[in-house]
Parts: sequence; structure tokens; C-alpha cells
Amino acid sequence: MVSTDNSTPRAGARTPLIAGNWKMNLDHLQAIAFVQKLAWSLKDAGHNFADVEAAIFPPFTDLRSVQTLISADKLPLVFGAQDLSAADSGAYTGEISGQFLAQLDCTYVIIGHSERRMMHAETDEVVAAKVVAALRHGLAPVICVGETAADLKEFGPSAVPVAQLRKALAGVTSASDIVVAYEPVWAIGSGQAATPEQAEAVCAALRAVLLEVLGADVAEKTRILYGGSVKSTNIGGFMKQPNVDGALVGGASLDLAEFASIIRFQKHAF
Ligand code: PEP
Repeated sequence: MVSTDNSTPRAGARTPLIAGNWKMNLDHLQAIAFVQKLAWSLKDAGHNFADVEAAIFPPFTDLRSVQTLISADKLPLVFGAQDLSAADSGAYTGEISGQFLAQLDCTYVIIGHSERRMMHAETDEVVAAKVVAALRHGLAPVICVGETAADLKEFGPSAVPVAQLRKALAGVTSASDIVVAYEPVWAIGSGQAATPEQAEAVCAALRAVLLEVLGADVAEKTRILYGGSVKSTNIGGFMKQPNVDGALVGGASLDLAEFASIIRFQKHAF
């Protein structure tokens, strides 16, 4: 059963995931240097990667370099892409197939980030097709949902993210590994994060959708992340919430010390 007691840290059954979305930053040479330093700094600090999973989402052109480095140096970091095509191959100029990402050992793929919904006109139907494509190739989709400031005013906090998640799961009948990221659009890059209580209320509503659509097992094991102006100084508040299982971090994931500190929230946040 999903705990609703928000006075205690989230139950230990779900390994927290701290995921860094680099967006269109860092070329492949910068990525190599960053990943090496991040892994060393976490290892030096004695970080236990089994306690908190650390993932990075570099641009497509960095993925081969990141894969080679992580595999050659056996670094305990995982990685994924920021998007994929709903199609597997063919006349889709500029698109990237999930098959290619799987060949590059990507564990995850972000789907439906608000920047893609807004700047690339990604509809809920496109997001749903991409979720199916990710699962077809053994990639764990990180499904992003979240309301704009106008949505918040008009519909309240959870109506839009709940509807987006329901639609994103339209083609999913069973799922062994999916991640949901609640990212209020008004909090992204604004420096104005949601409060932990706001995040918890929406994440609990999203878990209820998982329960209704995919059953108790999936609802219990699926990690739901909060994203939007997460920093080392506010991560602790989010991670105390029973339905928040990690963070999708944008800007702060490009600052090595800050990102390492967010990953190591257990050491300084409680
Ligand atoms: C994001 O874009 O996914 C994000 C959460 O950005 P930021 O952390 O910079 O608000």
C-alpha cells in the first residue's frame, strides 16, 4: 500500500533517482570531462550508488562518448537520452530511434519534457507513442508531466499533470520500469520551486493514476520525481515526502559540485 504519512521519509522500497537533464549544454568533450569528475567526486565522498541512483541525460551527440567512458572505467553512473522518435526507422529526418539508444546502452529516455511539448508541439498522443516506443526497445521512459502557471490558476494543481499522465500511459498495458517526473512548468528554470507539500500532493495524485491504470505493483515500485528549480538547499524537503522518489534536475545538474551535493542529499539534508 502506498504510504500517505508525510511525517517520515519515503519508504525504502524505491531507490531514489537523481537525474540530470543537461538539455542543449556540454559537447562530447566537455561531457567526458564532466562525467569523469562527477564520478570521482562522488566516489571520493564515499557515495553509495545503490542507495541513490545517479543518472545523466546528455545531448544525443555525447551519448557514444559517455557510454564508452562509463563502460571502460566501470563508472557507477547511468545515462539516458532527452527524447526519442515514436518510429523505429525510416524517412524521419533528424529523428533518433529507440533502437539506436538501446544500442548505446541508454537505460532511460526523457519523454514529454515541457520544452518539447511547447517548442516542438508534442501532443499527448505523440508522448504516448514515444512511451510505447521506449518500452519496445527496453528503455525506461521518464514521462514528464506538469502544469503551466495559467493551468494552475484555471484548473488547480493536479488536474493537468494527472490528465497528461493518463494520456501518456494510453498504450501501456504492463510496464516493468517507468519513471514519472512531475515538473510544474512555472518552476522550471525560474528559481521558484514548488513547496515540498505541493510536490507531494501532485505526486500522490500521479501515483493514484498509476494504481488505477497499471495496478498496485507498478504504482508501488514506480519512482516519481519532482523537477523544477531543485538545488542542494531544497532537495531535502522534497525527499522527505513519501511520494517523491527523486528529482529531475536541469540547471543545477551542470554545476558539478551542486549536482554531486544534490545526489548526496542523504548526507546533508536530514
Ligand atoms: C528541467 O528542465 O527539467 C528542470 C527541472 O530545470 P531546472 O532544474 O533548471 O528548473
